Amino acid sequence: MNAADDKTIVREYFNSTGFDRWRRIYGDGEVNKVQLDIRNGHQQTVDTVIGWLKADKNLPELSICDAGCGVGSLSIPLAADGAKVYASDISEKMVSEGKDRALQTLGNAENPIFAVQDLESLSGSYHTVICLDVLIHYPQEKADEMISHLCSLAQSRIILSFAPKTCALSILKKIGSFFPGASKTTRAYLHREADVVKILESNGFAVQRQAFTKTRFYFSRLLEATRK
Ligand code: SAM
Repeated sequence: MNAADDKTIVREYFNSTGFDRWRRIYGDGEVNKVQLDIRNGHQQTVDTVIGWLKADKNLPELSICDAGCGVGSLSIPLAADGAKVYASDISEKMVSEGKDRALQTLGNAENPIFAVQDLESLSGSYHTVICLDVLIHYPQEKADEMISHLCSLAQSRIILSFAPKTCALSILKKIGSFFPGASKTTRAYLHREADVVKILESNGFAVQRQAFTKTRFYFSRLLEATRK
């Protein structure tokens, strides 16, 4: 399968069965045990990012690009804390849900600004560019291009998360328990941390903070890198 196929499949998935599944996981309604585990894991990743940004005590001064924003799980709290957020996603349905949630939670439609856009076509310049749990949908070669493009949009900082390729995770994935139920998801790609760091460095960034979230069904390596 080539990368263009991956992208089409991902877009279609997050506008159909993936939308229904992930909207529930990223919500607070009743879900099954596996989905609850993934919800909790993802929330830990979101909370870690918010914790890092809040610790710097300058959120209201920041412009943030949340690339592949989903339903706004990160964008909405960051906007609530005063950051100027540009939230975009390849899926129209995810964006529409994000807009609704922002209106309900924040009572305005001005911040975050939501847009249906794939991250490859994003332009502009932001203090911080964030891309959480998106790279899992793309093979390393495509992920390299995506990371380089996101770096070009970041004035100071980039924050990325990805499912790390370790022996244990590769084996889990092979036996199919990493994402239970083949029909429930798109293909999942794991990435070697060394490869991600190499791309960040080749774009002039150095890793500053890192975290790892691991629950039963959710694995995510989080890196913050700033311009050297
Ligand atoms: N970042 C969000 C979060 O952590 O709550 C959503 C994560 S969800 C697992 C992955 C999201 O990436 C989906 O909403 C999907 O539509 C989006 N996505 C996938 N490929 C994309 C691309 N090439 N450009 C923009 N968004 C993309």
